[in-house]
Amino acid sequence: MPGFDAIIIGTGQAGPGLAGRLAATGVKVAVIERGRFGGTCVNTGCIPTKAMVASAYAIHTARRGQEYGFAASQVEVDMKAVKARKDRISGQSRDGVEKWMKSTANITVYQGHGRFESAREVSVGGERLTAERIFINVGGRATIPDIPGLAQISYLNNSSLLNLDVVPRHLIVVGGSYVGLEFGQMFRRFGSQVTVLEMGPRLVGREDEDVSAAVREILEREGVEIRVNAKCIRFEKRGEEIVAGAECKEGAPEVQGSHVLLAVGRRPNTGDLGLDKAGVATDSHGYITVDDQLRTTVPGIWALGDCNGKGAFTHTSYNDFEIVAANLLDNDARRVSDRIVAYNLYIDPPLGRAGATEAEVRRSGRKALIGTRPMTRVGRAIEKGETQGFIKILVDAETKQILGASVLGTGGDEVIHCILDLMYARAPYTVMQRAVHIHPTVSELLPTVLGDLKPLN
Ligand SMILES: Cc1cc2nc3c(=O)[nH]c(=O)nc-3n(C[C@H](O)[C@H](O)[C@H](O)COP(=O)(O)OP(=O)(O)OC[C@H]3O[C@@H](n4cnc5c(N)ncnc54)[C@H](O)[C@@H]3O)c2cc1C
Repeated sequence: MPGFDAIIIGTGQAGPGLAGRLAATGVKVAVIERGRFGGTCVNTGCIPTKAMVASAYAIHTARRGQEYGFAASQVEVDMKAVKARKDRISGQSRDGVEKWMKSTANITVYQGHGRFESAREVSVGGERLTAERIFINVGGRATIPDIPGLAQISYLNNSSLLNLDVVPRHLIVVGGSYVGLEFGQMFRRFGSQVTVLEMGPRLVGREDEDVSAAVREILEREGVEIRVNAKCIRFEKRGEEIVAGAECKEGAPEVQGSHVLLAVGRRPNTGDLGLDKAGVATDSHGYITVDDQLRTTVPGIWALGDCNGKGAFTHTSYNDFEIVAANLLDNDARRVSDRIVAYNLYIDPPLGRAGATEAEVRRSGRKALIGTRPMTRVGRAIEKGETQGFIKILVDAETKQILGASVLGTGGDEVIHCILDLMYARAPYTVMQRAVHIHPTVSELLPTVLGDLKPLN
């Protein structure tokens, strides 16, 4: 029975970094991966989707050539080439993780499904490994909802859609949130007809209503059909066509398409881990219960990344690694609760988000200030010909600290970090208000927005 100092199950965004830190201290680490190295982000999430978003952006811009002073008479999309580019970028990243782990001293890589046999024992491919410390980084997968008629049709998820090397004639996207909208806009730009079916009353329902409305406008302007309140979705195969019944309040009751993408959320890969044999508790959705320093209910076992339900992003998973490493190796009591909510929606233009939404600030009842500016009044956006969206910043009226921001617009995915860092510094907004930002940028308007705050009524 091979004995190690530490076992890491899964090579998502936390496992490899932690393996490297532990191995560098001289301890023996076993890393177990059942699928492709690098996990979701590298293979079926952030990296391949953002590579394809870049292709879609280039295609979209080429189609707008006349606005910029050139004529691209016909833009022909070569989906095989789009896929090949994406595969190359994703593959480089995957190979990098794999080669690095396999060549690092003190790391032994096992390829297979890891399963707890006890709180100190994990089986993989007929072997049993033991360790005093076990780290779970098994991530999640797409939820397959219980939709009537789903068994009659073939459907896609975020993984299988990435294998397409043809442009679907009509892609029906079930789910109007982050994953569904990124794919929806990108395939519209590749040339598909796209219909988004969202069960709720608006897109990206966690965002403020004005953000949802602006996102909808951006997508509709490009011809993405949006159907909200699609409460009773069902499927039927009619010849070669897939028919989705939607029962929306508005629009035709049925949508006919060639392909269906299910993008209705994620679930943790914890059902087949043998957690019961280790005594590790989960919540009712299968997320592993952890404390603020990512310790599970069993001493010596930690859970990092999407499987602990504390975050759903690459940066939160990576931060989980930093928290665990800081606590175990650096005598630095970092905690999950130190983290400020931040993420992007990578439609074009992107939405950068940090901290609380306006709705959350209102619900909190605290005295607050708000500043907004449409992108039509941002010089850089005008120069780039990308003026959709707006900036919105919320500030605590008493402490003067920033509570949250939404930057929907060109460069919003980067601009948001000016605000995020100020929030981490717990500095008053006046620090940024007095900063001299570089012209011409979107960020240069942040001090202006902060100089024009109004009470949030
Ligand atoms: C379409 C899409 C786009 C996304 N875009 C972004 C984005 O732009 N930005 C962002 O921050 N996040 C994005 N995400 C989310 C991001 O991919 C995840 O939050 C991130 O990958 C963190 O995952 P993780 O570290 O928890 O584990 P994962 O990356 O999911 O990796 C878990 C690994 O564990 C392995 N594994 C599972 N069970 C076992 C087992 N029993 N034995 C051995 N190995 C096992 C799996 O094979 C996998 O390799 C996106 C997700 C999707 C689906």
